Amino acid sequence: MAKKILDLDWLITEYMPFFSEFGMTEENLRGYYETWSKNRPALIKDYLWFIFQSLLYETARQSKTEQELYKYQNMIYMEMLRFRRQVEKVRANEILQLALAALVRKTISETNFQLKVEIISGHCCSYCDNLNQHIFSFEEVLKNQYLGSRDCTNPQGCNCTYAFVPMRDEDDNLISNFS
Ligand SMILES: [Zn+2]
Repeated sequence: MAKKILDLDWLITEYMPFFSEFGMTEENLRGYYETWSKNRPALIKDYLWFIFQSLLYETARQSKTEQELYKYQNMIYMEMLRFRRQVEKVRANEILQLALAALVRKTISETNFQLKVEIISGHCCSYCDNLNQHIFSFEEVLKNQYLGSRDCTNPQGCNCTYAFVPMRDEDDNLISNFS
């Protein structure tokens, strides 16, 4: 099989659907590239990484609510993770941790009910499988970053995620955050 050539056309084919969610156009990506690639070795992977970083910066600057901020952070980190794993063939668990932290913070910012966090291990490795279905508080998860950890031994990178489970009172009703 011929090796894919990573050039600007490749970037546009692969990533335009993602970048268009942020209002970017093909002309934007080609235009920025021209400016960016002046006076430097124009490595397309570096350019892609530069665009990801710029998106993180711009969405942080422009988000009006926490919900919006964390939603965008989660989307961008997940796409960065896909790139690092599929193209660069590295585990990039540190990026998974950033994506999951954004997901947890997004959920905290939008829920009206008290939730806990359940670990869902996708037959990842023996370490993560031991954590499967364990339930923690938001604080514990943000502090300890159980998933995508150094202890995960999956050579492809941790493939676990968190699920959010509502807490219930003794009458089986959801518990509001405001009661
Ligand atoms: Zn694992």
